[in-house]
Amino acid sequence: MSQDFHGTVKAAAAGRVGQVKEVTSLSNPVVKDLRALSQKKHRDRSGLFLAEGQKLVIDALALGWRIRTLLCSRAAREKKDVAAVAARTVAEGGLVLEASEKVVRAIARRDNPQQLMGVFEQRFLALDKLAVAPGETVVALDRVRDPGNLGTIIRTADAAGAKAVILIGETTDPFSLETVRATMGSIFAIPVVQASQEAFLAWHRQDQVFVIGTHMAGSLDYRTIPYRDKPAVLLMGNEQAGLSDLLADNCDCLVRIPQSGRADSLNLAVATGLMLFEARREMLRLEEMTRNPLVR
Ligand code: SAM
Repeated sequence: MSQDFHGTVKAAAAGRVGQVKEVTSLSNPVVKDLRALSQKKHRDRSGLFLAEGQKLVIDALALGWRIRTLLCSRAAREKKDVAAVAARTVAEGGLVLEASEKVVRAIARRDNPQQLMGVFEQRFLALDKLAVAPGETVVALDRVRDPGNLGTIIRTADAAGAKAVILIGETTDPFSLETVRATMGSIFAIPVVQASQEAFLAWHRQDQVFVIGTHMAGSLDYRTIPYRDKPAVLLMGNEQAGLSDLLADNCDCLVRIPQSGRADSLNLAVATGLMLFEARREMLRLEEMTRNPLVR
């Protein structure tokens, strides 16, 4: 290990419980545990997940997420930013693993992985702790199946300033490697709620929210809805089956995004993006600084 990297970490670690280890073998038990995090049953059991890439790890720390393990390649260790993240990991009692490229590839499960990965504790917000006010927007997804769709929706919800994403029923895991990758760090910025269909309907009955269902048979144009009068919940259907009949029957209104052409429907993430930016149209402003000087 380089003197600088080690020195920084040791200094920050003085008197604390964190450690720095070098790992090169795939049969190392810690490496086996990290590789197991690619499987949902191990994520569920441990309550942990992996986030890949320097930006994601730095964003997570900036947003107050606690890092359990930092894994970095030898190539990455010289970087000042990486040394700072390693120092923080140790200072928080976490483990820093300096790994061979083979180990990093095996844990990330791809050929050209990022040289830095963090292991974090999963977080879900309880539905009864989700407080929404008029003018605020929540996305609710009925049985979303595709990790890429879910990651894109979490990222888009964050970008549009939504309050939370509710996952209804059996869904793909928001903390899988693919979903976390697709969120581009937004998994750390926006609360995720898990709820059964029954719990969601009970919350709808109690809370003063306006549930806008999106449906291929919706009779209202999505551009005609008062999204700001009450807290708005944009309810999106499953990729294959759309919204369940029970959810659709309990919506306050059913809207459709007009289409032309031959496509039967829009991709779920695209439809959610359109709904979000319509619902939040009046709340989103370009700041003076970001205005393009070439556009008059
Ligand atoms: N075969 C499904 C059906 O008939 O509902 C199509 C599902 S579509 C791929 C996934 C979800 O995206 C829908 O349930 C709905 O929430 C949303 N969606 C897609 N296109 C839409 C549109 N034109 N208007 C409203 N919602 C739409």
